[in-house]
Amino acid sequence: MGRIAKMACICCTLLDRQQQSKTDVHHARVGHGGAQRAGDFCTIPLCHDDCHQGRNGVHGDQTYLRILKMTQMDLLNATLERLYGESR
Ligand SMILES: [Zn+2]
Ligand SMILES: [Zn+2]
Repeated sequence: MGRIAKMACICCTLLDRQQQSKTDVHHARVGHGGAQRAGDFCTIPLCHDDCHQGRNGVHGDQTYLRILKMTQMDLLNATLERLYGESR
């Protein structure tokens, strides 16, 4: 989980934007219940003011996810690809 916190915002990375605030660790939600939380393994780095808690962020109306045509699970996959892909 500490390694996630040191990563750049995955959403900004995919949108090719400059990250403006510190990275938060977001727990990806799985299933359709909304309240379910995945374990610590399923975390995504998101910048605090924008992609995470911002109006268009994953806790807002999720505009960025629509632009990317991705779900939180897709963001998680992209995160893990970067996390483990680079160390090889
Ligand atoms: Zn961001
Ligand atoms: Zn969150």
